Amino acid sequence: MEYREEDYLMLSGIQHFAFCRRQWALIHIEQQWQENEHTVQGELLHRRAHDGYHSESRNEVIISRGMPVYSRSMGVSGVCDIVEFQKAEEGISLHGHKGLYRVYPVEYKKGSPKDTDMDILQLAAQAMCLEEMLMTQIEEGAVYYGETRRRTRAVFTEELRSRVRICFEEMHQLYKRRYTPKVKWSKSCNACSLRDICLPKLGKASTVEHYIEKIIGEDTE
Ligand code: SF4
Repeated sequence: MEYREEDYLMLSGIQHFAFCRRQWALIHIEQQWQENEHTVQGELLHRRAHDGYHSESRNEVIISRGMPVYSRSMGVSGVCDIVEFQKAEEGISLHGHKGLYRVYPVEYKKGSPKDTDMDILQLAAQAMCLEEMLMTQIEEGAVYYGETRRRTRAVFTEELRSRVRICFEEMHQLYKRRYTPKVKWSKSCNACSLRDICLPKLGKASTVEHYIEKIIGEDTE
């Protein structure tokens, strides 16, 4: 199956979806967003990584910044922070360059490696788009973390690819129904940039009245 271009979702939404389905829906379906220190810093790092699409060559590597990518089969589009084309024995040929090149995506994140694999899912999604566009196989890529200033390497296993496809299928289904999943309180809520909009504790309370009673009770204690 191929998606129509007007139905494409934002590729980067997969990191929100993996963090919390409700957060993804609040941002991508309801268009709610709240900036905090983390989101602003992340945005600045991304801007530095790709200030418009351009490429440069260093030794045997051609580095493309801000490369637009898409996938018809997954119905998504986005931008890769960095795609390295590394000279190799096998790979794709590039217009104006001799030899063959292996494709290696690198995603920039401001923090340090996380407990969850949401960054890796986003990177794998980018790799799958590049594979479809360039008709090649991409075995691995890396996430660069601004805090540690190091790359974390990721191998794109079949299991990881299948999770990416499942996430995008679910995102398309929710988007089609314009359905925002209900609050499911988890420890992620503490780090969530949307918690003031989502009000996870309100959702957890049995009723709104119960919540208000509780707040009033706390204030008068
Ligand atoms: S506050 Fe919690 S439930 Fe609400 S969007 Fe954020 S992570 Fe999801």
